[in-house]
Amino acid sequence: MKLATKLIHGGPTIDPQTGALGVPIYQISTYRQTSVDHFSKYDYARGDNPTREALEETIAVLESGTRCLAFASGMAAISTTLMIFSPGDHLVVCDDVYGGAYRVLSTIFSRMGITSTFVDATDLAAIEAAVRPETKAIYLETPSNPLLKVTDLRGAADIAHRHGIITLVDNTFMTPYLQRPLELGCDIVLHSGTKFINGHSDVLCGFAVVRNKELGQRIRYIQNAFGTGLGPQDSFLTLRGVKTLKVRMDQSQLNTLKIVTWLKAHPRVTAVHYPGLPEHPGHAIHNAQADGPGAVFSFELDSYETTKRLLENSHLAAFAVSLGGVESIISYPARMSHASVPKEERERKGITDTLVRLSVGLEDPDDLIADLQRAMG
Ligand SMILES: *Cc1c(COP(=O)(O)O)cnc(C)c1O
Repeated sequence: MKLATKLIHGGPTIDPQTGALGVPIYQISTYRQTSVDHFSKYDYARGDNPTREALEETIAVLESGTRCLAFASGMAAISTTLMIFSPGDHLVVCDDVYGGAYRVLSTIFSRMGITSTFVDATDLAAIEAAVRPETKAIYLETPSNPLLKVTDLRGAADIAHRHGIITLVDNTFMTPYLQRPLELGCDIVLHSGTKFINGHSDVLCGFAVVRNKELGQRIRYIQNAFGTGLGPQDSFLTLRGVKTLKVRMDQSQLNTLKIVTWLKAHPRVTAVHYPGLPEHPGHAIHNAQADGPGAVFSFELDSYETTKRLLENSHLAAFAVSLGGVESIISYPARMSHASVPKEERERKGITDTLVRLSVGLEDPDDLIADLQRAMG
């Protein structure tokens, strides 16, 4: 099956009880048992819930994994997965990792003796140089946020294989429609399903997808033990949202290309960061590992005044955190995702006070362009 078909038919779609074209919301916490000696598969919903399971099966198929686990948020997926590591273990992490992942690694896991070295992951040599005898994993995100830097996933997985360690990839920006890291040799894919996978800015959810069954069992054990699994309502909404992933991504990508082309020629725009542009330094690597450039990009403006005017006067693209919805979202990394990074370090990383990120939704691109033009002045 091609991915478009998997989106509709990849998981359990027909309810065996009634023939309904969808899995119902099992809004139930506990299940009656009939044998003292042998409990049935369903006993308590922290462990297993049929609506969550249907979603997990669907995402596992889309990512070419053996198993997916669904969580209450992207951060629940990331934190629960990181609990497979033990005190003394070391991780090599891309230096522009999602802010929430940076926070748990640098303030919580570090306190438990799980340490991280942050490296420029566009440079495979820098990744390899940071690997130590106690390193257990490489943790990546490509294209990264907010500068859309690209990491060679096959190259990184090769390094991991040579050292007998695993590779984790946060695939939120791409979704399995555009990039499938497990097919490139990586071991665990992480998602904030809150973004493009659900796609309607009305659910928080997250996923961990694995290639190897044993890793799946370990993450599943922690998911049940910690109680970080996704609830049935949100599982249902995400099952509904993901069905249109392909058409949403296709249209948002077309809109993005049109807006990026227009912005590049705009006198107030000094740079555009998008892996779909031939001049992007990661363009060739991205094309070799993904099926499209996605619908998020960032750009730099000529002054703080223009930046402020754009953010405060944009009507169609909401000035907000998050991304990946049917509605366009414009955000300001310096005060939003990277607010906790000291200004000097931020600027050194290229996250300036004139950098804006845009997640392009399904509005008509001409309307979006007219709105951006009016807001920028
Ligand atoms: C939003 C996001 C997360 C965190 O997901 P939540 O659902 O907000 O917990 C992780 N990684 C990336 C790349 C994200 O954009």
